[in-house]
Amino acid sequence: MQGVVIHAPEDLRIGTLAVPALQRNQVRVEVKVGGICGSDLHYFHNGGFGTVRLREPMVLGHEFAGTIIELGEDVRHVAVGSRVAVNPSLPCGECHFCRQGMHNHCVDMRFMGSAMRFPHVQGGFSQSVVVDASQAILIPASLTMAEAAMAEPLAVCLHAAHQAGSMLGRRVLITGSGPIGALSILVARYAGASEIAVTDIQEFPLAMAVRAGADRVFDTRSDPTGLPRYCEDNGPFDIVIEASGAEAALRNAIEAVRPGGTIVQLGLGGSPNVPVNLIVTRELRLVGTFRFDREFVLAVELMSAGRIDVKPLITSTLPFAKAFEAFELASDRSRSMKVQLDFQKR
Ligand code: ZN
Repeated sequence: MQGVVIHAPEDLRIGTLAVPALQRNQVRVEVKVGGICGSDLHYFHNGGFGTVRLREPMVLGHEFAGTIIELGEDVRHVAVGSRVAVNPSLPCGECHFCRQGMHNHCVDMRFMGSAMRFPHVQGGFSQSVVVDASQAILIPASLTMAEAAMAEPLAVCLHAAHQAGSMLGRRVLITGSGPIGALSILVARYAGASEIAVTDIQEFPLAMAVRAGADRVFDTRSDPTGLPRYCEDNGPFDIVIEASGAEAALRNAIEAVRPGGTIVQLGLGGSPNVPVNLIVTRELRLVGTFRFDREFVLAVELMSAGRIDVKPLITSTLPFAKAFEAFELASDRSRSMKVQLDFQKR
């Protein structure tokens, strides 16, 4: 069995992996499609992010879907041949936060393709993978594997929208139009936003934002005064989803949101220097959002029902043997949104 293994920054290889034995509560999934995420790119370019660092080779990938090929003896809800989206989160279920239903804050979380723990939790970019049966979420025949592999990033955006509160009739600004920003456009539209504005610093992601349903876009690099001109004295937007992690974008968000409005910080961004006085005097709510919980199943349901169509955001699919090329392509924001790997083709 082969997989996509990161050894060090820019050292991504196709490696031969051991085939693990199956435990009673586990399933073996033949992986069909896996999507490359921003965090995979951080491992690829920088060997990690923040304090999270690669300390041993790790199979990347936490956005993937496939078909079950083997069942542990206790597994009932799926069968051999079941098509599934795999939830990369495996919370312990027993810690203080899990018992309060805050599974994304589990103190013993096993998140696939993450170097937060040591030994690292191996990811899903391999020809097959063993996961807990609870991680295998059935998908209908109508949903493609490529769409199912978008359940994880869509779940992240649904969780962020839950942090924002009701979007019904609200004016929403999304800063940063990478895959997460673009998926947030789809979520905001589904959730009833009356206006969706999007910022970025490049043309291609803004064109994709328009395609995803943005009402207006602002290129804050080529036209730095466009957003300020659009904003009224105290800012027109009820909600900002800050999806870039850039300090300048958070500053824009604070300027653009109305008094009493909400900024959801979705992008990870170090320690930005921001005008705290405006947060205070405009009585803004600045809230974080991290991963997702029940939103993974919701993401599968919304795509399956045709309520959210993620297909236009998938810009390329490459055979997994060309992972290096795919990672370079995914890093090029001037021509890529979501890049996926096909594990059935070499
Ligand atoms: Zn826990």
